[in-house]
Amino acid sequence: MRDHLVRVVSQDGLLRGVAADTTQLVREICHKQQTDLTASVALGRLLSGAALLGCLLKGRQRLALVIEGNGPLGRLSVETDAGGQLRGSIRNPVAGLPPKDGRFDVAGAIGRAGFLHVWKDLGLKEPYQSMVQLQTSEVAEDLAWYLTSSEQVPSSVGLGVELDSDGELAAAGGFLIQALPPGDDAQIEKMTSRLKALPPVTGMLRQGMSPAQILGRLFDGVEFRVQAEVPLLFSCPCSEKQIEQVLVGLGPAELQRLIEEQPQVEVTCEYCREVYRFSHEQLQALHG
Ligand code: ZN
Repeated sequence: MRDHLVRVVSQDGLLRGVAADTTQLVREICHKQQTDLTASVALGRLLSGAALLGCLLKGRQRLALVIEGNGPLGRLSVETDAGGQLRGSIRNPVAGLPPKDGRFDVAGAIGRAGFLHVWKDLGLKEPYQSMVQLQTSEVAEDLAWYLTSSEQVPSSVGLGVELDSDGELAAAGGFLIQALPPGDDAQIEKMTSRLKALPPVTGMLRQGMSPAQILGRLFDGVEFRVQAEVPLLFSCPCSEKQIEQVLVGLGPAELQRLIEEQPQVEVTCEYCREVYRFSHEQLQALHG
């Protein structure tokens, strides 16, 4: 089954759930980014989290999640849209950290101190921007904290990336549960205990459970209906036009320096690694 996500809502409208299988997507993007094992887990979690949040967008809206911590990975950046298209990049793809207590040290690789930036293009004049301090630097808790504190929607996020003994990506995915207003305390309490009893999401995916089945387990005893099923895939909307804008954005002085120093300029898209070449003449045209 290709990567996809499923979004459900309880019949009373008070609980929303999203679950995603992102295995192939994370594999493909980590391959492009040439991440080491710990970096794969960190980027894979952020990609899976973005897929879950992206499912709450509509139409042509876009979402970006950026984590900037003081660890060796530097900056992780992931973008998505309502159609389940994702891309991701990582500044330093080699964390170079040994596992800690048998686990990948994602918090150490990201860094304990830093910020999660959330950027949404909702089609309004100004994009929506928000920023929260990293809580645990394990990604899932940081996203849950953002949703609960900034968006004021009590949320629980579970993200998993599992590698096999050869270091190959075996499974990746996640789920998001949200209590919608006005909320039902008894129902939230029941959901909390089901969340506590839930096995790791990658374990369920490896057993062959689908996102719908994972939600079925979480919503056991709660009537719900499926709102959306979205395929997830890697896609980079970069273009020569967009890279031109980046060059123009460097400012006239920097552009002039490039024109003087380089016969041609190569710009590599940080997400898909496509190389764009600009001749002397093209650069001069941009300089205007
Ligand atoms: Zn690209």
